[in-house]
Amino acid sequence: MAKSPATEHPIKAQGYAAKDTSGTFLPLTFSRRATGDKDVRFKVLYCGICHSDLHFAKNEWGVTTYPVVPGHEIVGVVTEVGTKVEKFKVGETVGVGCLVGSCRSCQSCSNNLEQYCPKMILTYAVPYFDGTITYGGYSDHMVSDEHFVLHWPDNLPLDSGAPLLCAGITTYSPLRHYGLDKRGTKLGVVGLGGLGHVAVKIAKAFGAEVTVFSTTPEKKHEALDGLKADHFIVSKDLEQMQAVTGTLDGILDTVSASHAIAPFLNILKTDGKLVLVGVPEKPHELPAFPLIIGRKIVGGSNIGGLKETQEMLDFCAEHEITADIEVIPIDYVNTAMDRLLKSDVRYRFVIDVANSIKAPLDT
Ligand code: NAP
Ligand code: ZN
Ligand code: ZN
Repeated sequence: MAKSPATEHPIKAQGYAAKDTSGTFLPLTFSRRATGDKDVRFKVLYCGICHSDLHFAKNEWGVTTYPVVPGHEIVGVVTEVGTKVEKFKVGETVGVGCLVGSCRSCQSCSNNLEQYCPKMILTYAVPYFDGTITYGGYSDHMVSDEHFVLHWPDNLPLDSGAPLLCAGITTYSPLRHYGLDKRGTKLGVVGLGGLGHVAVKIAKAFGAEVTVFSTTPEKKHEALDGLKADHFIVSKDLEQMQAVTGTLDGILDTVSASHAIAPFLNILKTDGKLVLVGVPEKPHELPAFPLIIGRKIVGGSNIGGLKETQEMLDFCAEHEITADIEVIPIDYVNTAMDRLLKSDVRYRFVIDVANSIKAPLDT
């Protein structure tokens, strides 16, 4: 008989899973592997809710394996280490982001770009090396190869720091890679959600002049006063958009839903770069003229490698950058997803996992 998620591994785990495309979350008992030689086992304390979790729960990208236990902004405390683990000790606070595996030998892996390894393994909803499906941080505990575990900086809060493991690295990495991390860079951030608001904070720490493009006028004073953005533009307002034509060096587009990208190309200077990190369900339309007239570039970026993720955590700890969060118990996750879809969160939900899932490891 085929093994079920509850029986494929030796150790029981409790989590919350979406079981079909309705994306409705229900409690799930499943199982985790025994701690291997190079594995770190840890109790989950906090887990952020990324919009990718919602895309996956509803199978909006057509790749979900159900049941799916999402969660890739995970902070926990180590409960067991394998005999060959070198970097971590029991009792240490750790983080796990979007990756739990890669081939470790291809060109991308050799260059600390595990996120571009053809065999990279996401933290949830994909087959692991042993053929079983990965389950994420909406669960009482996790097991991960130590290579994919991050050291948690001492002064970084556990709850508001958790979203950095995806929202932080997904915005930090392209700003660095595309050279948009220089003091004085005129940078646009499109979409002021989980990724967008962290992008503003990181870009300000790099010394950029930041313009937020938002569909939500009510976010203006939060963006300017709270997040210290320099300018705020309502992206649906043609006049405001036209007034900034040709002014920016780069734009980071974090929007989760279908929208026109052509208007943002017009806002770039000659040689400007539009970097896409948001992944709407439907493909974008890309007109050639605005690219050609001005030698502009459209690029993308996927999370970040482990080395850079550690660098980003240390950078955020040093600059006191965390996410603005609303902490919730796990049984609020369905309401949280409804609100996330309506952009009704300032700016990231974080699940207090340890206090809302009864962990077998505790008993
Ligand atoms: P989020 O918190 O929901 O933020 C998305 C923001 O997009 C919203 O706050 C809203 O900002 C704007 N928006 C929403 N609907 C819109 C619409 N119809 N038209 C224009 N703007 C709209 O999501 P998130 O967690 O930041 O994730 C954003 C996207 O990045 C998702 O697609 C996610 O899957 C993707 N992602 C990619 C990576 C990667 O490695 N590339 C990593 C993580 C996440 P305003 O109210 O300001 O308009
Ligand atoms: Zn994410
Ligand atoms: Zn590889």
